Amino acid sequence: MAFTLAPLPYAYDALEPAIDARTMEIHHGKHHQNYVNNLNAAIADTPYDGQTLEALFAQASTLPPAVRNNAGGHWNHDFFWNIMTGNATPLKPGALADDINATFGSLEAMQQQFSTAGATRLGSGWAWLTVSAEGKLQISSTLNQDNPLFDNAEVKGTPILTIDVWEHAYYLNYQNRRPDFIQAWWSLVNWEKVEALYAAAKA
Ligand code: MN
Repeated sequence: MAFTLAPLPYAYDALEPAIDARTMEIHHGKHHQNYVNNLNAAIADTPYDGQTLEALFAQASTLPPAVRNNAGGHWNHDFFWNIMTGNATPLKPGALADDINATFGSLEAMQQQFSTAGATRLGSGWAWLTVSAEGKLQISSTLNQDNPLFDNAEVKGTPILTIDVWEHAYYLNYQNRRPDFIQAWWSLVNWEKVEALYAAAKA
């Protein structure tokens, strides 16, 4: 039962100018495809074949590195593509906006903390906004293709927003300017999707 690469939910050039079409083509068609291919190869003829990604994450600390890294890589990218849109609208007043204000002080303060988590992640990784098991909003970052669903994550929770801060996510257009990429990326956040993920996590 092999994993497959889903098409992007928009065209490769839909996120321009914040993310250029060539970066999206390589990121989705090469990098993400490789995670899928390598995951399928790593689970073939093992007890991991047939398990869901979430089931694999619940035992991440004991997985062979090839399974762990490629399972994370597949899930993280799927999630990342789906919380972006070329037709972004601002976060609307409501439960998520209220919680962000109560937890961080303001939307801008949350964005600043999230951006810093991404900018200061040494090497390759991801920044996350998650909902903890207790229902609290929290910001964290993970190394390589780890994510907050891993049993050994430093900050565990249900992801509702993420940014890929691997160099392959921005290098063609931004070179070493990761903070500039993060700042431009905020214009792509699909807040309606984030709100729906928040509501599901709190339910
Ligand atoms: Mn990536």
